Amino acid sequence: MPDLWRGESDAEIVAALKAPYPSLRLVVTDGSRVVKGALNVEHAGQFIAGYQIDVLLHVRDVLGLPTVREVGGRIPRVPERHVNTEDGSACLYLPEDLLVRCKEPFGIVGFLDGPVRNFFLGQACVESGVPFPFGEWAHGAAGMKEMLSSVVGFEDVNTCVSFLEMLGGKVIKAHWLCPCGSRRPLRDCHDVRARELRRLPLSTRRFLLIRAREHLRKG
Ligand SMILES: [Zn+2]
Repeated sequence: MPDLWRGESDAEIVAALKAPYPSLRLVVTDGSRVVKGALNVEHAGQFIAGYQIDVLLHVRDVLGLPTVREVGGRIPRVPERHVNTEDGSACLYLPEDLLVRCKEPFGIVGFLDGPVRNFFLGQACVESGVPFPFGEWAHGAAGMKEMLSSVVGFEDVNTCVSFLEMLGGKVIKAHWLCPCGSRRPLRDCHDVRARELRRLPLSTRRFLLIRAREHLRKG
């Protein structure tokens, strides 16, 4: 499994938060490490909205990143707002999408500046009747399909899976039949696409494959 979290000590986190996020503090109790407080969302130097948040450093997601909750009761716990109805955790990103885009592991400040800020800026937009500014993936299976199509490059999920299966191996031969189903050898078909996707780390390609198969199982 990928791990996009750069482990920081408590002292490092406290020091890192000081200047950019003075209204957030690290609270360590038995078995939990939580960054708590007000997240003030600004855009182009303008204060837009403040949200009370908990960043649970000890509860990691599929990418190894912390779980984030809005705890001030301001955001309804509904899928349309990208909040998990069960535990109130924020859907900050589509894991596959972030994994493909992410260049290096996140520390606390990079995490807050990036996915967390984008999420809450989006929430502030929705509150004022403006659509999410960063585009958004559809929910559940539909979002997974959109993401696969955009990353792998085929409309059909089965074709995406076949492609990822080929890319999950250590070697690829140009004379193999292209996984797109054209019955032509790769070199005469989606060779360029395959080369581009091969630039993603093997762990990323395998993670995409696992997630794509899960998606297919769910239908
Ligand atoms: Zn092809």
